[in-house]
Amino acid sequence: MAKLSSRVELFTDSVIRRMTRISNEYGAINLSQGYPDFPPPKEMLDRLSEVAYEGPHQYAITFGAPNLRQALARKFGKSIGRQIDPETEVLVTCGGTEAMMSAMMTVCDPGDKVAVFSPFYENYGADAILSGAQPVYVPLVPPDFHFDPEVLEDAFRQGVKALILCNPSNPSGKVFTLEELSLIGRLARQYDAFIITDEVYEHMVYPPNRHIYMAGLPDMYERTISSSSLSKTYSITGWRLGYLIGPAKVIENAKKVHDFLTVGAPAPLQEAACVGVNFPDQYYEDLTKSYQEKRDYFCKRLDEMGFRHTVPQGTYFVLMDISDFLEMEQFAGYTDLEFCEWMIRNIKVAAVPGSSFFREPVNHLIRFHFARGLDVLEEALSRLEKLAALLKT
Ligand code: GLN
Repeated sequence: MAKLSSRVELFTDSVIRRMTRISNEYGAINLSQGYPDFPPPKEMLDRLSEVAYEGPHQYAITFGAPNLRQALARKFGKSIGRQIDPETEVLVTCGGTEAMMSAMMTVCDPGDKVAVFSPFYENYGADAILSGAQPVYVPLVPPDFHFDPEVLEDAFRQGVKALILCNPSNPSGKVFTLEELSLIGRLARQYDAFIITDEVYEHMVYPPNRHIYMAGLPDMYERTISSSSLSKTYSITGWRLGYLIGPAKVIENAKKVHDFLTVGAPAPLQEAACVGVNFPDQYYEDLTKSYQEKRDYFCKRLDEMGFRHTVPQGTYFVLMDISDFLEMEQFAGYTDLEFCEWMIRNIKVAAVPGSSFFREPVNHLIRFHFARGLDVLEEALSRLEKLAALLKT
């Protein structure tokens, strides 16, 4: 066979999504790939069933159905206190995944550098390789995942074209403060770089933390490409709907990338999703509360079992420390991936090995998500009791 693209040889398939496949194979409770097990809001499903007969079933306008773009422009504009033009500043994509990839391809030429905080959502590694960009990693230092301003400025000094800002941050659960965002923004202005955000967990931020949009900070709209998704906010990860919002010239180019990558997101689903994007504020408040309840329950039970773990300020992810297990003879020489595979087979709970999120050599963390009904979480936690018991023997 002739040689395949060497670029594609540089990364593996997604470990997050691979864990879902292994979890399904063994019938485990899947707390690896983050997606909810509860249905989307009824109003959206009602609209979807109408649309099934009324249409549209053919292509939407390539950059998004007008009513969905209008709804997104209104919602985002309200969040950042600015009028957004749905014609020129909004692009509907196939999920947050395409939003981020399109943004990267819009900004980067091969050889450009892009700053990425570590730990990071694993897609950014492949996004960088596919768009020809070279990542410059900036550590988020545990336990509070702060960054050193000097190290960050060093990355900007290397001439990065953009910084990827996942806020609230997957997998650390960090929510960036106003001070941190202002500092990042100042550096972006000083060194003339873009900020590409990934804000898919924007409505999962637990008080007293609050979500601040980079695009809403003074003088930042012009250099911020905001990406997000409807997946998490409306429990529709399978609908594959995401978006980019930013300055008209950036979106004009991103539309071209999107047009030739996917033509467009599914038309009937855009129609039904529009109902959700027009929900009143109460919907988002209830969503946050419900996830906070899950977070508190999940973390409390982990505490009771004596596990060490992060308590996320936002997102639905918890990193758990497995060092004590790796010191046991039974797990001697195990990688975090092997530990997760063992856990799927023997405890019947799936997690993601932490090493897939870190630039640094990390082998002692695994990531759970808690986007499950409380009954399922309860069952998963009672299975984890068996794991905790190993430490007591
Ligand atoms: N963001 C989710 C996670 O980190 C998964 C998203 C996806 O698989 N596209 O688990």
